[in-house]
Amino acid sequence: SELWQNVPLAPPDSIFKLTAAYKADTFDKKVNLGVGAYRDDNDKPWILPVVRKAEEIILNTPALDHEYLPITGLPEFTIAAAKLILGPDSSAIAEGRVTTVQTISGTGANHLGALFLSRFYQWSGDKKEVYLSDPTWANHPAIFNNVGIASLYYPYYDPKTIGLNFDGFVSSLKSAPSGSVFLIHACAHNPTGVDPTRDQWDAIAKIMLDKGHYGFFDCAYQGFASGDLDNDAWAVRFFVDKGVNMLICQSFAKNAGLYGERVGALHVVSPNKEAAERVKSQLSVLQRSEISNPPSYGARIRDISTMAGRIIDMRKELFKILTEELHTPGNWDHIVNQIGMFSFTGITPEQSKALTEKAHIYLTVNGRISMTGLNRNNIRYFATSLDAAVR
Ligand code: PMP
Repeated sequence: SELWQNVPLAPPDSIFKLTAAYKADTFDKKVNLGVGAYRDDNDKPWILPVVRKAEEIILNTPALDHEYLPITGLPEFTIAAAKLILGPDSSAIAEGRVTTVQTISGTGANHLGALFLSRFYQWSGDKKEVYLSDPTWANHPAIFNNVGIASLYYPYYDPKTIGLNFDGFVSSLKSAPSGSVFLIHACAHNPTGVDPTRDQWDAIAKIMLDKGHYGFFDCAYQGFASGDLDNDAWAVRFFVDKGVNMLICQSFAKNAGLYGERVGALHVVSPNKEAAERVKSQLSVLQRSEISNPPSYGARIRDISTMAGRIIDMRKELFKILTEELHTPGNWDHIVNQIGMFSFTGITPEQSKALTEKAHIYLTVNGRISMTGLNRNNIRYFATSLDAAVR
């Protein structure tokens, strides 16, 4: 018989089919509500200003070449990514229990996580199964199927209340064999937009601990549920603190608007540092055979954006404290209007010296401050000292 005669024609992906149909439609009032990508008020893709800025920096930094990244990714990126989801003060990170690998966005994180579990999870019996929420992202069952893990479903959405079927979820957790793998959407559940409350998360964590279930957290929308990155990471951090065995798949497609750059990470939280190192060694072997090493461009953008974003936040905060709280004399608009790492405060050499001598704040006499030296812990002290120096 002819080659490929036995290959059945697969249906096109439903979401991408929808997009194609929308594009082909010539009706002038057409509306596309199918895309999972942010659009501005003119229905155009949106590049975050901080991403634009990061791209300019990359372009103007000759040292940022096109060499291969390490197998597990850009170290600055993986560290920042872990802190973003687990928290800057995460004890799991401090204890060296977190293994982070840069992945091909969230899809790649799901795949690598699933592949790792398929190879190394202590499955009870010979069945490899994952419990997915009903409903879930359409790609989940396919991703697990690719690595030989079958999908089961736990009740999640209740059409009667258009809310969470909490009782159904809980009874599934309770009736599943001990040590089952549950895929859990970390926040902003796709496709329902229904998340558990904190009390419900607490109850879910308790049962998972009790039953020794494994949490396969998928976090593709950190920041989209509440507008606050820390708030949206609450459940993940709570489960890590409680000691639930888990991994986290992290996507920067949506919250950084880097869809096509495929920026993501897989974080595996282990019971101890030694286990985390063994996990890392095996994830490296798997990653090497699949993609050798992850792409550098998006990870660099994301990394530089994080820095630039923090600087912008510090500018806003300093401006707010000076103008709204302390009513410091003078005009401080330049603090927020200037861009980049440095800011000319406009203070005199005498005032600058006074800041150093009286307040132990070190800056060049011309009044230039490096915004990178400011952070949430010291910004108030700096603002009040600056206020005192100019009065
Ligand atoms: N998980 C969920 C729940 C998603 O909705 C998505 C994006 N549609 C992803 C993972 C991964 O997307 P990406 O590979 O573009 O990061």
